[in-house]
Order: sequence, then C-alpha cells, then structure tokens
Amino acid sequence: MIEVNEKKQHLYRISGFGETGSTVERTRTRTSVIAYTLRGNRYLNITSHCTLRCTFCPKFNGSWEVGRYGLRLRHAPTADEIVMAAGDPARYGEIVFCGLGEPTKRLDVLLEVAERLHDEGARIRINTDGLANLIHGRDVTPAFSGLIDAVSISMNAHDELTYNRHCRPLQSRAFSAMLAFSRHVREHVPDVVMTAVDGLPGVDISACRDIADGIGVAFRRRILDVVG
Ligand code: SF4
Repeated sequence: MIEVNEKKQHLYRISGFGETGSTVERTRTRTSVIAYTLRGNRYLNITSHCTLRCTFCPKFNGSWEVGRYGLRLRHAPTADEIVMAAGDPARYGEIVFCGLGEPTKRLDVLLEVAERLHDEGARIRINTDGLANLIHGRDVTPAFSGLIDAVSISMNAHDELTYNRHCRPLQSRAFSAMLAFSRHVREHVPDVVMTAVDGLPGVDISACRDIADGIGVAFRRRILDVVG
C-alpha cells in the first residue's frame, strides 16, 4: 500500500543502486527509496513483495513509479537501515509502514523497527492488506499490543467475488481472512480503520462501510488512483 503526494517529499535512498546514473530519471528508477515524507508523516517502504496482485496497483500496471519516485527495492533493507532512513520520529506526526509491498510479510523486521521507533516516542501506523494471520499461519495481532497505535486495513470490496476480481490474492480464503484479522486486531490496536476504493467497478462502498461497522472499526473511502 502506498500514499503519494506530488508536491513535497523527502526521500531516503540506499546508495550504490544507481545514484550515479547518467540521468535523473535513471537515478529515480534505480534507487531504493526506503523512506519518504508525506503530509507530515514518515512512510517506510520495507518490502516490494505482496500477497495480493491488485489490478489498480501501479506495479501491476507496468510501473514501480509512484509520485515520480521509484519504490522498487533492490534488496530487503535491514532493520538498521530502516531505522536510519526513518530519521528523528519527533519531526513527524506518525511513522507509517506503507510502501509498494505488504509490510507484514516482513513481520519480524517490522516489529523490531516499530519497537525501536516507538521507544523514541513515535506514533506507529501499519497500512496493510490484513492478510498477516493467513500468511503466517497464526494470530500475529497480540504482538501489536502496546506497540502499534493504528492499523489501516484495505478491505477493497464488499464481497469475496469482487475482492478476488480486483485484488487477485495468491492464497484462497483471503477475503474472509482479512475480515477475521480486522476483528482480531481491534482487540490490540486502539485505532483501526478499514478502507475501500471508490471507483472500482462493482465495489459497493456503502456495503463496505456496513462491514466495518459490523466489525466495530472505522471506515474510510479511498479514491481510485490515489493508492494508499
Ligand atoms: S496490496 Fe498494495 S502494493 Fe500490494 S498489489 Fe495491492 S495495491 Fe499494490
């Protein structure tokens, strides 16, 4: 999941991956952007891998470029690299795990980074597809307790058929797993919101809102082409 703003972004790139490219464009596409600033928050891009293949995702539409910046990582950054990229948490409203990949795929690294930054006073948010319990084969949400302040879950659709059409999950039962994750995580994280993209064919935003209400979490409507 990714949020972008064309106007002002502060990026952290790992050196040695095209920093000396002959053109600006080449540099942008070949560097590894781990962290960038958006609307006063610091976003961490910790993996390029996903459990979904969303039809509306830039990387499945021939581009890893979001907001003019390349978010394809050339290697999986270490916890030390991510913490260094995050910078001083006091400068930001939130630290948000959100890139062009699913952050909970690297759960151990995510939790280590979150703990280190939380100890420095950061408010921590995870933007996720809500499939962490499915891919790890256990309920991981207790590990968020007292560490993660907010979770944003991409519901994306109101039923499994529509979800599968737009999100193309790699594993079966992803839609129900995402809903179950949402129920679990609200027990451990104070601020949980589910989101859906308005503008995707067949997505009933009102029904999505009802699902979030039923689970007992907040709902946010996202706009097509503003991926986040
Ligand atoms: S979960 Fe996010 S990053 Fe992954 S494919 Fe879907 S939109 Fe793209």
